[in-house]
Amino acid sequence: MERKNSIELIQELIAFDTTSRNSNLELIEFIKGYLEGFDIASELVFDADRRKANLFATIGAKDRSGVALSGHTDVVPVDGQAWETDPYAVSRKGTRLYGRGTSDMKSFIAVCLAKTPQIIQKNLETPVHFAFSYDEEIGCVGVRTLLRELEKRPHKPKSCVIGEPTGMRVVRAHKGKISKRCRVHGLESHSGMAHLGANAVEAAAEIVAFLKNQARRFRDEGPFDYEFDPPYTTVHTGTISGGTALNIVPKFCEFEAEIRQLPGYDTERVWARLSQFIENSILPEMQAVDPSARIEWEVLSVIPDLSTSDDSLIRLTQELSGTDGTHCVSFGTEGGLFEQIGVPSVVCGPGHISQAHRPNEFIEIEQVRKCEQFIDSLIDRLE
Ligand SMILES: [Zn+2]
Repeated sequence: MERKNSIELIQELIAFDTTSRNSNLELIEFIKGYLEGFDIASELVFDADRRKANLFATIGAKDRSGVALSGHTDVVPVDGQAWETDPYAVSRKGTRLYGRGTSDMKSFIAVCLAKTPQIIQKNLETPVHFAFSYDEEIGCVGVRTLLRELEKRPHKPKSCVIGEPTGMRVVRAHKGKISKRCRVHGLESHSGMAHLGANAVEAAAEIVAFLKNQARRFRDEGPFDYEFDPPYTTVHTGTISGGTALNIVPKFCEFEAEIRQLPGYDTERVWARLSQFIENSILPEMQAVDPSARIEWEVLSVIPDLSTSDDSLIRLTQELSGTDGTHCVSFGTEGGLFEQIGVPSVVCGPGHISQAHRPNEFIEIEQVRKCEQFIDSLIDRLE
């Protein structure tokens, strides 16, 4: 098989438009074919309609637990962003590679693939697993099907490095997230006879304001953990829509909100207080006008927080990356889900989160080199 270096592989991976709404199968087939070239078999774990797949591959013995290197293959959309270059063709300018997914997080996957022949050559007792997922960007959806498979196995990975962009620093904790959609159903009336309607937009606005006040409370009163930026749980409403015309009392409004909580904080108490507020202060007034007025919630996604359960994994990752200290971040990863099935996980990957999800996303080539050194040190360290 023809060997390819990291930069070539980054170029190839970026060329697949794996925005989460698209199928990722072409990219997955590419990786599968590449690994087959080195006699490495891939296992694909598909979504329900077989439009997308996770890829899991093991280099080395299959009858024991190894170290998993994990990444997501999907990227966020470029819609409406002002890109100066084609986001799906890597442009090299000076020390940087530009393209959608260069930082988040195809470069990590490319380095794993480029290092495959070296990993094979080492003939390691401890296997190295690749776990490449889909639909991470829409709530860590895809990896869950893979983890359900791995959970059943006697030899699931013994640890996992999630290669999300951390500047190759070791991240041992991140916040969790729960996001929900709220639908408010009221009753229409002429706006001159507003008392005959149940105004869904106003009800939604009051709920959004309640959430905003909760956000201020977290900001001002904590709980605080100063290793995080910001050091408190955040609450945010991202979208809202409702109503049809100014002279009609609106019968419908919906909005989406999220809480990103510090590890260990149970958001249930916030939702419980909100339910009480709705029961006591919103619904009685609406239902006095229309008994069928109601407020419905739908959970969009739940991403568990991460707090690495294995200190030796943290120490190992520090050694491999040549850094001391650990970091906590405010973005979610698949790490908390790996931890839930008993696979200790840390986050350490090339690129910076500040470049992710933005127009003209880039990675410094130096970050790619550091990631290569990380994998080199890993295979030197493994038996
Ligand atoms: Zn990512």
